[in-house]
Amino acid sequence: MRIAFRLALLAAAVLTTAALALPAAAADKINLLIIDGQNGHDWKATTPVIKDLLTKTDRFNVDVCTSPPALPGKATDDQKTASKDAWAKFRPDFAKYQVVLINYCGQPWPEEVVKAFEKYVEDGGGLVVYHFAVAGWPPWAAWNKMICLGWKPANFGDRISIDESGKIVRTPKGEGPGCGHGPAHEWAVDIRDKDHPITKGMPARMQHVKDELYHGQRGPAPETMHILSSALSDKAKGGTGTNEPITWTNTFGKGRVFVTLLGHDGPATSDPVSTAFLVRGAEWAATGAVTIPLPKDLTAAEAK
Ligand code: ZN
Repeated sequence: MRIAFRLALLAAAVLTTAALALPAAAADKINLLIIDGQNGHDWKATTPVIKDLLTKTDRFNVDVCTSPPALPGKATDDQKTASKDAWAKFRPDFAKYQVVLINYCGQPWPEEVVKAFEKYVEDGGGLVVYHFAVAGWPPWAAWNKMICLGWKPANFGDRISIDESGKIVRTPKGEGPGCGHGPAHEWAVDIRDKDHPITKGMPARMQHVKDELYHGQRGPAPETMHILSSALSDKAKGGTGTNEPITWTNTFGKGRVFVTLLGHDGPATSDPVSTAFLVRGAEWAATGAVTIPLPKDLTAAEAK
């Protein structure tokens, strides 16, 4: 009897420890929300890739919130009513997440969501802006400040490039090229801050797979914008002949923002270079620190 009782106690203790250990492990994970649903790009193809890359690090719990689709040009009254009802239900619960990843570029969100999102980032919520999301919402001033630069014409705002000596050059609104890219091709990414938590340990120059190389991005580019990497936009490949920012960080209120222009499609998102930036950028935006190791195959991507 006595031994059985002790065994029962031991079993209870083991169970209690296990029960306590589980929520603790879950609590260590970062809650990340991907928002998609409208985009000039194939978001239905890239969201699962992004989700998989993040989940595989074992550092994130990933949810996806998909907005209602855009209305067709000649929408019927019924379609308009259904869309209005669907948008009335689009209320992402930002407070549940440490970081929100935007894979969306489409019609404006309801005012209530816009305000909630601004407050979320201002109060310390993390933000990751992925590829074509930088083209979104030209009239939204706070968004433009958060992302610093985006896919906008030359008269929209300043342009930031990096000269041969590594100096940051600001070209005023209206001067020089606006947003664009030549045909997708393979190109190299140069690290501009090797000591940032996101880039620490990355080779100084890395070979990226076939992808679009955005140039002439425009916006308010506040002083808080911090460039992590750039790429030489080759004139022979339809580029500008200058070093264009590719990944950068910013702060908005207490919130940390990470922007990556990499990843036009699935393969361009899941190569080691893009993956390293995406998962580490998301962790940094959420916590201010990076614990996710660099992909093992990243050193193979080292370029001359
Ligand atoms: Zn693209």
